[in-house]
Amino acid sequence: MFEKNVSAMIRQLRENSGGGSSQQFFLTQTLAEIKQELASVNMNIKTKYKNGQIPTDALKKVDSNHFLEENASDSHMRMKVDAIKQGINITLPYATSGYRPCGKKGDYLQRRCSTGFTQWCAWEKYKYANGNLASNPSNAVGCTSNHGWGIAIDVTNSGAKKFIRNNGEKYGWWWGEAPSEDWHFTYDYKRDTFLDKSKENEKISFDGCSYRSSIFRILWQQSS
Ligand SMILES: [Zn+2]
Repeated sequence: MFEKNVSAMIRQLRENSGGGSSQQFFLTQTLAEIKQELASVNMNIKTKYKNGQIPTDALKKVDSNHFLEENASDSHMRMKVDAIKQGINITLPYATSGYRPCGKKGDYLQRRCSTGFTQWCAWEKYKYANGNLASNPSNAVGCTSNHGWGIAIDVTNSGAKKFIRNNGEKYGWWWGEAPSEDWHFTYDYKRDTFLDKSKENEKISFDGCSYRSSIFRILWQQSS
């Protein structure tokens, strides 16, 4: 769907513009909107999906088996690479240490988390078995954890925790959302000082032309 929309939009753009100058004008206008558009990225995933019900193909992989919201994932990898230069390996220890599905009532009480560590599992464990603090999904709003938006991580390694605590903010990763959990970090695109630059420099080739990847994001969003 993504590729189809982009393809159709670009073809339409070329037909409508009828020449290079108009197309250039359009692209310049679009680029001017990049910052604003990027600033709403976290919100876009929230308007498209429900917390903890995001398909993995709408998220981006971290390492080999974890998922995060796209910008959070890029930022996590950027931070990870910089940490490695200082001999620190930031890893997510459990399958749901990044994105965490909402799950269903009874995930712990009936199924003992056999279907994975969902938000329901975390909540029931907290409430009935002295588990760690967890958000309550049993209200009208449902699941609300930032893990369910793919913008939170849990890190258990003490060196990694210290690194993120000291350096994470410029990558957008901050501590303090859950003060009783020294392992829980949240991504905030507004604090991510690398976000704009990295996106604007990315290039995608399409139909013989090279475009900045952020254009595709905007075209896609406008068409959906
Ligand atoms: Zn957490």
